[in-house]
Amino acid sequence: MKIICIGRNYIDHAKELNNPVPKKPVFFMKPETSLLQKNNPFFYPDFSEDIHHELEIVVKINKVGKHILKEFAKNYYDEIGLGIDFTARDLQAAAKAKGLPWEIAKAFDHAAPIGKFLPKTNFTDIQNIDFSLKINNEIRQVGNTKDMIFSIDEIIAYVSQFVSLKIGDLIYTGTPAGVSAVEIGDRLQGFIGDEELFNFEIK
Ligand code: ZN
Repeated sequence: MKIICIGRNYIDHAKELNNPVPKKPVFFMKPETSLLQKNNPFFYPDFSEDIHHELEIVVKINKVGKHILKEFAKNYYDEIGLGIDFTARDLQAAAKAKGLPWEIAKAFDHAAPIGKFLPKTNFTDIQNIDFSLKINNEIRQVGNTKDMIFSIDEIIAYVSQFVSLKIGDLIYTGTPAGVSAVEIGDRLQGFIGDEELFNFEIK
């Protein structure tokens, strides 16, 4: 499986990092080895001093597809989840400054924690889902999928022009504003509405 991540999909987050608002989705990938499941702890890596949380709605692909039309994209997923796109912001800033790829900052081991998934049928409108992140019991990030620049179906249509989607692939759909550094000892809890989907510690 592969993990596809969308960058700059919320205007407020693009602005907080001084990035332009994109005209087309920006995507990058993380390998399977970046997954962190079952609320296992995240061990702070020694190569960075500035690991940021990015809370993101995640879509799990349930069917093989290529060149998927937007109007059919909804047939390619039936579960919605929540994850963190951990980013070594110091390494990313250095890579960006040199025009280099971002893998060093995004694709490292356990940089993609993922929580439980919920059936799509739980939601009346996929593009109106509230989600939030608590760190040490304080709300640190809140978002709603209505604020996405590119909808989930637009993302699937766009990405599948370039990359075939396979069963089990995950799409991290971008972070709202409010990204910040995590510290050893922090406890991160992710919610869709009131339901807790992940709960893990930074060690
Ligand atoms: Zn992200």
